[in-house]
Amino acid sequence: MSGSSARQNAVNAVTSYRPPASDGPLEAPGKLFGYNVFSKSVMQARLPKAVYRAVMGTIELGEPLDPTVADAVASAMKDWAIEKGASHYAHVFYPLTGLTAEKHDSFLEPDGSGAAIAEFAGKTLIQGEPDASSFPNGGLRGTFEARGYTGWDVTSPAYILENPNGNTLCIPTVFISWTGEALDLKTPLLRSQQALNIEAQRILALFGHTHTDTVVSYAGAEQEYFLIDQHFFFSRPDLLASGRTLFGARPPKGQEFDDHYFGAIPERVLAFMIEAERELFKLGVPAKTRHNEVAPGQFEIAPVFEKANLAADHQQLLMVTLRKVAQKYGMECLLHEKPFAGINGSGKHVNFSIGNSMQGNFLNPGDNPHDNAQFLVFCAAVIRAVHKFGGLLRSAVASASNDHRLGANEAPPAIISIFLGEQLTDVFDQIAKGGATSSKEKGTLIIGVDTLPALPTDPGDRNRTSPFAFTGNRFEFRAPGSGQSIAGPMIAINTILADSIDFIATSLEAAMAVPGADFNVSVQKVLEEIITTHGAVVFNGNGYSEEWQTEAAARGLPNLRTTIDALPEMQSESVKELFAKYGVLSNRELRSRYDVNLEQYSLSVHVEAKATLEIAKTVILPAALRYQGELANNAASLMSIGYAYDTSVLDTVSTCLTALKEGIATLSHALAHDGAEDAMAEAVHACNELLPAMLAVRTAADTLETEVADDLWPLPTYQEMLFIL
Ligand code: ADP
Ligand code: MG
Repeated sequence: MSGSSARQNAVNAVTSYRPPASDGPLEAPGKLFGYNVFSKSVMQARLPKAVYRAVMGTIELGEPLDPTVADAVASAMKDWAIEKGASHYAHVFYPLTGLTAEKHDSFLEPDGSGAAIAEFAGKTLIQGEPDASSFPNGGLRGTFEARGYTGWDVTSPAYILENPNGNTLCIPTVFISWTGEALDLKTPLLRSQQALNIEAQRILALFGHTHTDTVVSYAGAEQEYFLIDQHFFFSRPDLLASGRTLFGARPPKGQEFDDHYFGAIPERVLAFMIEAERELFKLGVPAKTRHNEVAPGQFEIAPVFEKANLAADHQQLLMVTLRKVAQKYGMECLLHEKPFAGINGSGKHVNFSIGNSMQGNFLNPGDNPHDNAQFLVFCAAVIRAVHKFGGLLRSAVASASNDHRLGANEAPPAIISIFLGEQLTDVFDQIAKGGATSSKEKGTLIIGVDTLPALPTDPGDRNRTSPFAFTGNRFEFRAPGSGQSIAGPMIAINTILADSIDFIATSLEAAMAVPGADFNVSVQKVLEEIITTHGAVVFNGNGYSEEWQTEAAARGLPNLRTTIDALPEMQSESVKELFAKYGVLSNRELRSRYDVNLEQYSLSVHVEAKATLEIAKTVILPAALRYQGELANNAASLMSIGYAYDTSVLDTVSTCLTALKEGIATLSHALAHDGAEDAMAEAVHACNELLPAMLAVRTAADTLETEVADDLWPLPTYQEMLFIL
């Protein structure tokens, strides 16, 4: 392999790389798990009984935390953390950008006599005041009132983050303004869990469950990612600036062989996986890696599902850990949705179910008619929710980066539909036909009488082209982006489910208020109504096909292709009403999220456009001009001694160069435009002007990559980045 000297050095460095040994003995996973977590068992061992019971009441039953126990918890937490080598503590919060933020403080406080004592009072545990005024908040805080507070989320355990220079006690918190408005993703997630619980309890009561406990949604997120060597990463200003390659011709060998990582995993990738798992285990994140993703250099890690709030925090921790451990092994973990054009992108499949510890998973089909009826009620709630609020679900996964993935024939389409599978679809078809008759016709299913046919739980038999698929005992939302927080999608899912469960409960409660009403007949009726009104969202066919686009339109399902098409859904009247009604987001809070998302979109595209322009002008154009000059000199000297010179190569290069220069001029012009006065106009400009201008530059540059002499080409190629690990 040849290449420009910088590129060659990178390749040499990569191929001679040897991974460091993992530090510490490889203990049994059972011993490691939760090693750095202030877990229930640690609390039980260290807290006075009454305090422990009070904290458990908050964690398990959602009771408000008694502030008088905070001092005792804080003191135990501090002692534990210091024993674990912590010198600092941090309130960890989740701002609207989807990232994780930390405010670090020292345990040490001056004692007034020139010495310092380790202090950590209950009030410090419960509330912090980060100087976080620079986080985008969509206008919820003026700068004069820039204070925001972090408050301990008791339901997500504190943990120790290790660092060679001293450990930090991390406390997961909500982040709210001084007026009590949510400035983060955790607050509405907790509120949506509460709303879901309240509505689901009504259904449980209708089904005669007298002993229940808090209903929650569970989430398990499969995380896809790419690994590339850091030498390549640092030689790619586009990856550094935007997380994706803005240039790069397709490699001669792409993913068409599907073979790359079914074979041996490169040694250091395996070393990385083992260590990442170890680190996650210590943090109490039950993660398991896999290595069979479609694209070269692509992998997957999936933690076992947990309560949505905890799963969301752990998911954030997982992304941070993957990045950190990859760097230790000289690699960069790319969590962008589409780092390489023409190569499969990375998603995050959010699996979810609803349930509690007493009645189990409500999305698990039962083995008797009564349980089946309850299962069908919750399934129907999902169908109604996804049909009614498909636009909201689409907006919950909308971002500049995910736009490159959704609908690109490798990821679910931008149309939100549900895959139920053959049998379950048939069950609902029968319900639609059957009506609430007591006489059983052929082909109909009577609630309370029939058991369900065995539904497939085999994941192999599942439609991978559907954005929202029933997979035996849960649904899998496949549209979220690889780098995205799962909190946003889970907030939407919880809230739209609360709405549909509320609808069903209200209708059943009314029906049962009539003397002599039959419960099963009432259930049958509401299921029939839902499947008749909302069945259009069920689609078991190929979501990638052209026909589906047409059929979906005929069914009235929205097809929101880009972020700017999708985000306005967050501001529709029905969505505003939904979030306000269930106390998840006020109109102002919702508006702030819309504003921040729109701003983030424009910002991302702008950063990419500027990087494209700079790389085109200062990296690609000079290389191509050098090559053109070489060819021209060569031609001139050959012709001067009388050789007939074929100018076709020079002509091709010159044509591409003209296209590149034109592209640069157009992009430059598009970037020079004065900021539009409103955020949507700015986003539309980014989508309709900047993105096409960037693409024109890229097309010319990628053609040049296939023409210019390899030893002059400055950027690591797709082949190098994807296949040398
Ligand atoms: P796949 O075939 O999609 O890779 P897996 O068996 O690996 O399926 O599961 C994917 C994810 O689904 C995991 O994170 C797993 O914990 C999660 N999951 C399994 N059961 C449930 C459930 N009842 N509720 C929520 N998530 C679940
Ligand atoms: Mg999956």
